[in-house]
Amino acid sequence: MYYVAVHHPDRCQNCGVCSQAVSCPGEEAVCYGCGACALLCPYEALEMVEEKRKGKVSLEINGERVRVPERITIKDALREAGYHIPSASEEAGIFAPCAVEVDGEVKPA
Ligand code: SF4
Ligand code: SF4
Repeated sequence: MYYVAVHHPDRCQNCGVCSQAVSCPGEEAVCYGCGACALLCPYEALEMVEEKRKGKVSLEINGERVRVPERITIKDALREAGYHIPSASEEAGIFAPCAVEVDGEVKPA
């Protein structure tokens, strides 16, 4: 299941914490569900809600072309393509990646 950030203007105090840290807080049209803005907001004005992704996009991973749901994280795209990506909740000692290399550049996972 994937998520989208929803902004609640009635709770927002315009403190600017979210927009100082991320470029897209609560922008549903571009949200890929990372959850960062909702974690940052001290007033619970950003909420993650479940959303079914309607479209698919085509990606090349290690030379293989795969189709995955649109607007998901790189980690989730890798999982959709069949890669095992450990989560933070898995057994202690397993590395849970927060960044990946894409075309030679380090990107948030
Ligand atoms: S910071 Fe993450 S959860 Fe918030 S809108 Fe952007 S992609 Fe969505
Ligand atoms: S962090 Fe929360 S309260 Fe502050 S501007 Fe962003 S949404 Fe509004």
